[in-house]
Amino acid sequence: MDLPVDEWKSYIFQKWSLLPKSIQDTISTADNLKDIFLHSSSLLQPEDETFLKSLASGYLVGKDPNAPPFYREEGNKKFQKKDYVGATVLYSKGISHARPHTADISLCYANRSAALFYMDEYEMCLKDITRAQMHGYPESLQPKVTLRKVECLVTLGRLQEAGQTIRDLESNFAAKPTVAAAQFQILQRNLCRLKMKVQERERLTATFPTTLTKIFEDMDLREVNEQIPCASSSVSLCMDSLRGRYLIATEDILPGELLVKEDAFVSVLNPGERPPLHQGLASKWDTRITNGDLYCHRCLTHTLAMVPCDGCSYAKYCSHECMQQAWGLYHNRECPLGGLLLTLGIFCHVSLRATLLARFEGASKVIRKLSGEISNKDMCSPDSETPVHTLRSDLGGESEENGNIVQTPVPGCDVNGKYENNYNAVFHLLPHTEHHSPEYKFLCALSVSALCRQLEAANSSKPDTAAPPILCSELSTWGVAMLKHMLQLQCNAQAITTIQQTALSGSEENSVTNSRQVRLATGIFPVVSLLNHSCSPNTSMSFVSTVATVRASEKIAKGQEILHCYGPHHSRMAIADRQQKLRAQYFFDCSCPVCQKEKHRATIGPRWEAFCCGRCGALLQGGDVLSCGSTSCMESVSRDHLISRVQDLQRQVGGARKLLGNSQLEQAIQLLLGCRHDAESFLSPEHSVVGEMEDALAQAYAALGDWQKSAAHLQKSLQVVEAQHGPSSIEMGHELFKLAQLFFNGFAIPEALNTIERAEKVLLVHYGPCSDEIQELQKMKSCLLDSPPI
Ligand SMILES: [Zn+2]
Ligand SMILES: [Zn+2]
Ligand SMILES: [Zn+2]
Ligand SMILES: [Zn+2]
Repeated sequence: MDLPVDEWKSYIFQKWSLLPKSIQDTISTADNLKDIFLHSSSLLQPEDETFLKSLASGYLVGKDPNAPPFYREEGNKKFQKKDYVGATVLYSKGISHARPHTADISLCYANRSAALFYMDEYEMCLKDITRAQMHGYPESLQPKVTLRKVECLVTLGRLQEAGQTIRDLESNFAAKPTVAAAQFQILQRNLCRLKMKVQERERLTATFPTTLTKIFEDMDLREVNEQIPCASSSVSLCMDSLRGRYLIATEDILPGELLVKEDAFVSVLNPGERPPLHQGLASKWDTRITNGDLYCHRCLTHTLAMVPCDGCSYAKYCSHECMQQAWGLYHNRECPLGGLLLTLGIFCHVSLRATLLARFEGASKVIRKLSGEISNKDMCSPDSETPVHTLRSDLGGESEENGNIVQTPVPGCDVNGKYENNYNAVFHLLPHTEHHSPEYKFLCALSVSALCRQLEAANSSKPDTAAPPILCSELSTWGVAMLKHMLQLQCNAQAITTIQQTALSGSEENSVTNSRQVRLATGIFPVVSLLNHSCSPNTSMSFVSTVATVRASEKIAKGQEILHCYGPHHSRMAIADRQQKLRAQYFFDCSCPVCQKEKHRATIGPRWEAFCCGRCGALLQGGDVLSCGSTSCMESVSRDHLISRVQDLQRQVGGARKLLGNSQLEQAIQLLLGCRHDAESFLSPEHSVVGEMEDALAQAYAALGDWQKSAAHLQKSLQVVEAQHGPSSIEMGHELFKLAQLFFNGFAIPEALNTIERAEKVLLVHYGPCSDEIQELQKMKSCLLDSPPI
């Protein structure tokens, strides 16, 4: 997903392996990015481009006039089965393929408005009705959508508008007596009903004032940091030869305190499941739901009412405004390149978009700056001993004209020592040029130069766009900048995630949900990038739209470094795997306190991987052969044997989850109880597989509506989560949230209140007071406190 598709990767690696040794050497030993780029791109042949184009043409990114009727038909099928979410997504897909001002697009919008109506999404429904009418919805069908519009307005309490719309519709009837008699009668009846509803609502609103605004305001950064405007005043930017740039606490910090709040400099939506390179007509149109169907292409907001780009089918937005902004900032260039960008992967796309955004910080200055610095060896390997760099000028500054040389102590800062979320800071993130393999650099350079040639072609064929033109002479400079970004991304790409709630059981009122973190997009955050890694970090990161929020997850004393986990967390990965991953991707050996402690520890693994003696229950210890820790017991057993038993259990739990998915609850419970019995004879009660079983059992009983049993099993799963991730971890927060829902549904008031409080405490630290979960917990609490005692 991040890198180009496998076909292009292996094609380029093959090409590399066939290069004469002398050329390989020239590229391998080149010590600046400009030389690497120019040497590589001179090797890009027309047949390479043809091959790449054939790969890119496998993606359906344009508008296919045959697609809208197909998707509308499929959407109608879902609609009839009352799967309104599914129907909405399919109508959206139809809309994205339809040209503006056609019957196709207006019919899809109208159908989507109906699905939204049934999901009680009245505001969105109204918008879609307007869109349908704007694109020329057929006159004969107008009364139907107009009635729906009135119904929405009534429900939303916009009674005057509702009344006006009814009057308009009536006078329309009077003017056009062409409507068939039977249809006219139905309409009249509906109108009568709605008129009564309006009157009814008018009486009600007179007695009930509108209440309830948002209870909580998100706490903002305590005080603005003069040096780093996106960070709190309780941190400061430092730099040394060992750690590079990093942030430290300048005062004691409490758990939950907001430390960084930064909007991505650039972000690209992860398209989700890669659409198949289409073979034959059968699989031509994809009916699966992907990220691109649910999240805005620009701001990543979740929405069911997507508005597509007028020029392509793959960029869809939450609103017309987002579409226009994206068009002005970058999509006018990207629109015709969709297939190519999907083929070349997200890193390439982020790199392109970063350079396109750089134009708005003064295009000519950026170009001048890039050409000046990229050929300078120091800029490409800032690992060199002298941390002091000479900058031509501050990118954003207006005063400089003839290139003053200014000393700045920390790279990425402006002349005043200020570190901001801008292109200058992005440009100074480390590309680690010397650490990447020559093949990888060759792959990146050729991908970028193929992209440059397409940009050039698009540019010369369409010179009328209002955006600043990219001059051909500048293209190689842009290419070098893009190559630098591609190399930076391996260490500096930040995954933008969201919490996806999936309903485990129950009707709408009695739902129990599972929270899962999913990756939405890839972005560059220059301030967040200042944080170093720890396998046991003292911060927690979350996202709203494209904004990253870093909070302290524990107390941080004055002078301590602010640390973030790059992925390999000690509770999810063994030390050897962590070390290997960090070395391969980030080029360093982790020496965080947990790693140091674990290096010197004996062979007893963590509790969530521990085995127990089958005879006496004590913990087993040892390497390939484990023996009982109790001195009176002589039991010993091979590790391989135990591992194969665990794998067998995992398979069975997987099978039970499938049964759960098919609502075969009793069978699932029988299977799981058997597994648990088995597990007791050789796994520690805190083994992660035991946790999985208890979690699945909780899910099964919840589906049966047996809240008490469900809660009992979930509490056991909670113990495992606590042992593995710690009592104040995000994982613990999500499990407590689930447990609170169970107690709430079972109306166990004291237990529910107690669990809500625990969940709130943990989730507040990680997500702050505005998160959906905290709001939900608040609602549950007030509902419980208001309920009459039984
Ligand atoms: Zn948006
Ligand atoms: Zn487009
Ligand atoms: Zn570590
Ligand atoms: Zn024993």
